[in-house]
Amino acid sequence: MKVAIYNSGTQESKRLKRMIIQGLAKEKIPYDEEQPELVISIGGDGTLLSAFNHYEDQLDRIRFVGMHTGHLGFYTDWRTFEVFDLIESLKADTGQSVSYPLLDIDAKYSDGTHQKFIALNESTIKDTLKTMVCDVYVNAELFERFRGDGLCISTPTGSTAYNKSVGGAIMDPKIIGFQLSEMASLNNRVFRTLGSPIIFGADAVLTLRLDDDSTAVLSCDRTQLELGQVRHLTELTYSVAKQQIRFAKYRHTDFWRRVKASFIGGEA
Ligand code: NAP
Ligand code: MN
Repeated sequence: MKVAIYNSGTQESKRLKRMIIQGLAKEKIPYDEEQPELVISIGGDGTLLSAFNHYEDQLDRIRFVGMHTGHLGFYTDWRTFEVFDLIESLKADTGQSVSYPLLDIDAKYSDGTHQKFIALNESTIKDTLKTMVCDVYVNAELFERFRGDGLCISTPTGSTAYNKSVGGAIMDPKIIGFQLSEMASLNNRVFRTLGSPIIFGADAVLTLRLDDDSTAVLSCDRTQLELGQVRHLTELTYSVAKQQIRFAKYRHTDFWRRVKASFIGGEA
């Protein structure tokens, strides 16, 4: 099993990386950053998002493991004092894994081009210059005309991140689907949206059609897409991705216990 380490820039994560590399060498576990089968992310959930983004073209082969250097993370099971236990788990690896759904994004631009993205947490579409206006289609049928700050489309594991801040529900990551939540929608006698989050199932297709003069900006996890002056977004299509993210599951961390520990208090 070939292992790679993806770390945040901190001294602590660099030190841990050196320690793990030494441990791997001692156990004769090969290190390969180009074509790894296991990627150890050292940092926070944000670091794991970057590791995912870095290796997203190789998801069928790769399993991820997260070690957190800060507070308890949602994607990070291991603590910094557990380097030795992690190496022991790698030695005993039997390929065990747990998979979670991802979000597929297809963005169309005014110049006729389009681009594909895949999100682990969420994609947002926001306009900071003026009210964002878009038609929301569910399975190709017009559902509503949205006016407001923007929309957040989140995966089940991303539901505890941005989605939660904008009033979305936390989804059990065993549910295959995705969630749409509103950001400051305009609701009055003239303008109307559903006004509550929606959780879509595995086969749903969500399409957002933006107005011709749209200045809306798209994000995918940590990345904000730079569009420049020449083209603008015209249409976005969201669905559950064919690929999933796999984590090497050496130990069981109960999801709801983690939710409680992160947002209410207590031990994870
Ligand atoms: P950041 O500003 O450091 O992230 C914000 C917080 O979200 C951090 O505490 C981060 O944990 C945490 N987080 C990331 N993924 C999570 C998940 N799946 N469940 C629960 N918490 C999660 O930025 P970042 O580290 O680059 O992370 C990017 C993410 O930040 C985006 O994908 C988005 O979900 C979130 N975000 C939230 C808001 C908001 O709530 N208003 C605004 C922008 C972005 P770590 O400290 O472990 O990294
Ligand atoms: Mn972060």
